[in-house]
Amino acid sequence: MRDLPLEAPNTYNAEPIPDAARAAIEALMSSGDLFRYTAPENSPVALLEQEFAELLGAKYALAVSSCSAALFLALKALDLPRDAKVLIPAFTFAAVPSAVVHADCLPVLVEVGDNYRVDLADLEAKITTADAVLISHMRGHTSDMDAILDMAAHHGLPVIEDAAHSLGTKWNGKNIGTLGKVGCFSFQSYKMINAGEGGIMITDDAELVARAVIMSGAYEHNWSKHAIVGEEAAKWQNKLPLYNLRMQNLSACVIRPQLPELARRIENGRANHDYVAARLTDSGYFTVPAPLAPELRAPDSIQFNLNDFTAEQSQAYMDATKARGVSTQVFGQSKDNARAFWNWQFIPGDLPDLPQTRAMLAKACDTRLPARLTRDELDYIADALIEAAAQVRG
Ligand SMILES: *Cc1c(COP(=O)(O)O)cnc(C)c1O
Repeated sequence: MRDLPLEAPNTYNAEPIPDAARAAIEALMSSGDLFRYTAPENSPVALLEQEFAELLGAKYALAVSSCSAALFLALKALDLPRDAKVLIPAFTFAAVPSAVVHADCLPVLVEVGDNYRVDLADLEAKITTADAVLISHMRGHTSDMDAILDMAAHHGLPVIEDAAHSLGTKWNGKNIGTLGKVGCFSFQSYKMINAGEGGIMITDDAELVARAVIMSGAYEHNWSKHAIVGEEAAKWQNKLPLYNLRMQNLSACVIRPQLPELARRIENGRANHDYVAARLTDSGYFTVPAPLAPELRAPDSIQFNLNDFTAEQSQAYMDATKARGVSTQVFGQSKDNARAFWNWQFIPGDLPDLPQTRAMLAKACDTRLPARLTRDELDYIADALIEAAAQVRG
């Protein structure tokens, strides 16, 4: 038998920030130049935008305070009418319907299957009365973007991608976040790149990004520091509200040195995921949904469904994993879970009936699996998850 670590690995700690960040931060400390628009050009935030757009293969990037801010600005920049219906998957993080509500639009929840992906039949039924489609690739699981983009194009609707947890995922070889009209990413600590907080949107649409730049807080002529956006933005001078959701230079200094680490994190994250997925599947207690054929995933967590556990057994399973130090949530069984749609009580109107999503949430488990974990740590986690199931099932 191999020597496993004595203690459960901490799956919430991030990787150290690369040393290169220190020099950049030191320079900022000396100059005090924390605001993105103080320098005439090449501020750390402006450089991050250029580098990120190039890395993903998009024309424009706008760095902001969070992915939620990016989603909100994307909806505002689309100039949707008040109470516009925005389709979102019923399985996502509460910040997504929140961004829709914040943008004075109405979230319309679409059923999600037990592979965590948008149910295309329900999307097709609801798209006829919708104004926009916001696809949240929840936990990095990509819905069938070929079908969704076709359907949206047929109805003339824009598609926003919430790629908060999909940085590095590919679909038919293209980066997630570049498929729809706008892609939004997060730099919150539990995502692939960690700045504590932060977000960024990418698009090829000059008019859309120009409007978003101004609304993000490029007051007066600060839009001219987005060299690439200038002409389009001039048209909107003084015509749009300023929501002030800018990113500050300190965040960009923390993010930029992590961009070269991304390829390694993606590769290790995927290998970690696939290793644990195979062990969980072999145990017979769980089903780990397979990726779709065009999809190459970049996971930093694992989701799996409990096979034939009762509600009581599912509750007991959460306790049993916690007792082993590998805390696992069943999305629909943990109290006040922000990813269970019935807890989004801020959405106007009655709670929709979504039996398919409800059934999935009742059995879908969530365990963090950061890219930095070693093989021994992965075995510790897999053993804990399997032993907890064995204990609960008797
Ligand atoms: C983290 C996350 C968000 C929110 O990102 P913030 O940067 O914290 O606003 C939105 N959607 C998904 C799918 C996420 O995982």
